[in-house]
Amino acid sequence: MMRLPALALAMLALLALGPVAPAILGFTAASGARERFEEGRFIDLPSAHGALEHAGAIGARPHYAGTRADRALAVYTADRLREYGFDTRIEAFTARVDTPRKLAVELFADGRPFTPRDGFHKQRGTPPLGFDLREDGEPNDPDTLVDAVGLPFNAGSADGDVTAPLVYARRGMPEDFATLRRAGVDLRGAIVLIRYGGAFRGQLVQNAQAAGAIGAILYNDPADDGAARGATYPSGPWRPLKSTQRGSLGAGIRIPTLPISAENARTLLRALRGPSGPAGWAGALDAPYPLGRGPAAVHLVVRMNHETRTLWNTVGTLRGTEPSQSVVLGAHRDAWVYGVSDNGAGTIAILETARGLGYLARSGWRPRRSLVIALFDGEELGLLGSASFARTHPELQQGCVAYLNGGQNLTGTTFGASAVGALTPAIVAATLAVPDPAHERSNLYDRWSAQPRGITVGNPGDGSDHEAFLFRFGTPMAEMGFAGPFGPYHSSYDTLRYAWTFSDPGFVLHRTNAQLYGIVAMRLADADAITYVFSALLPVLNSGIARVQARAQRDGRTIDVAPLRTAIAAFAAAARGTDDAIARGAGPDAARTLAAVQEIDRVAYGVHDYESVAFPAVAAAYASGEDAAVRDAVAVAAAAIARATAELR
Ligand SMILES: [Zn+2]
Repeated sequence: MMRLPALALAMLALLALGPVAPAILGFTAASGARERFEEGRFIDLPSAHGALEHAGAIGARPHYAGTRADRALAVYTADRLREYGFDTRIEAFTARVDTPRKLAVELFADGRPFTPRDGFHKQRGTPPLGFDLREDGEPNDPDTLVDAVGLPFNAGSADGDVTAPLVYARRGMPEDFATLRRAGVDLRGAIVLIRYGGAFRGQLVQNAQAAGAIGAILYNDPADDGAARGATYPSGPWRPLKSTQRGSLGAGIRIPTLPISAENARTLLRALRGPSGPAGWAGALDAPYPLGRGPAAVHLVVRMNHETRTLWNTVGTLRGTEPSQSVVLGAHRDAWVYGVSDNGAGTIAILETARGLGYLARSGWRPRRSLVIALFDGEELGLLGSASFARTHPELQQGCVAYLNGGQNLTGTTFGASAVGALTPAIVAATLAVPDPAHERSNLYDRWSAQPRGITVGNPGDGSDHEAFLFRFGTPMAEMGFAGPFGPYHSSYDTLRYAWTFSDPGFVLHRTNAQLYGIVAMRLADADAITYVFSALLPVLNSGIARVQARAQRDGRTIDVAPLRTAIAAFAAAARGTDDAIARGAGPDAARTLAAVQEIDRVAYGVHDYESVAFPAVAAAYASGEDAAVRDAVAVAAAAIARATAELR
């Protein structure tokens, strides 16, 4: 997370001064006044009622990618966009879709000391204990009782039928496997039980197979998102013992892998023996978390259907007067089960935004840049829909000035945003124009600044649909929303009842989200000059250098980042002049403005070692240990920044 640059704060302080309507970044005085008028018409159009209607359609049936219910939702969203006045089509593509064929977990307590407390009785020589792998339904939420919820699984798992001693491996991170090895626990040929949460789940399984495991079982420990955090569903928002997190593992998995509930994990843990682990090793289940192998053995069966299926993106366009440029609002529509939060929330925000924008367009408003709504399929299986969209729409590279992502963005009441630096001031300024539903006379900006962390905008991470835009094209991205405790992540409990009861009673914040996405999109689409603030990229660039230098100092290595520093200094000087011009609605032409920001975004943003870092290629080169690689990566980044500077001159 980064602090807003001082420049942006100073600008916002100016913007906040009344009573004269403040200027809007990127607009001339005349077009700014027109924009205010249209925003005033827009702001009351998104509604809680509209949001709830979409949530009803989304939460009606499980709609895993490539199913009939998924297709039905593609049609529902297309119908809405058409009704709102968008030029709409469904773009089909094909992809590998995994579904479970046979899944089984059996426990062989094998006559060792073992005290079952869960309603079965072990005797020497009894058959293995087979587990019920379903998520038990919750009688208070009938949606969870439906058979179509299906068995939890991990897409991308290898097929396999293995029986092996069980080892609890905490979070499945390299240091956890090191702890086990130090304790003399042999991981080769074992099945490992891993708590979700240390890194992307596929990485955990890769770590396990690298350590020699032949099977992996994943679960959520109540210490992380369940009873140890607070009341569980249906009494509270945290994950109940019976709930299981599904999820994709990505490519490269060679061992069978299956997610189970904490309740089943507890039974497995109780069958393990060994000394206790170091501090932090144990979770919150009423069970031992030993450093040991067995004596219990597990029989794990995973057989999947690996099919090529048709998936569907829904795409609607509101044509601008300069249609070669566009603002894309995207969200994924597919879900593991009902997905009313993941990703109903993002879909709802964008559909309600579209409803408002469509109404404006039918009553006289015409955006300068085209507004494109893209509701993606197959995100849960590895960002498939957005990747297909970016691949089949290469015009976006030259024309898309911003990608606004609606992620799982309504799980509580704490407002947050992530964005590339160039968009950060525009996002913050837009919150001034959105009312806070909790306080009649105040706005979202006030609510945000009153939160403990104040106005902070995070750097974009990975794992969502903006990757295709930001990491591939360099398109600036932003994502906004409200977060809170969200236990049912990727489970059958992510339902309408859950969202209505815990995330957003009354759906008022769903409306706020739509209002904010709408204001941000309108400004980006209508501005005379694209509303980037180039100076706002400097904190990211400088922190990227500082970070790699600090690491080198710790490691006693010397690296030469002078070329980057020189390039950034020249860029900073050019950015000042450009920012002043853009603020008044002037500045370089759109093509050069966009090219400049893309040059920087492509080298500045990315992920290394599970973490969002500035200059990811430099970080990776540094990690390789080769000074020549660092020199090359620094030169590449410096050259990109120099090209950006040239565009701004
Ligand atoms: Zn998800």
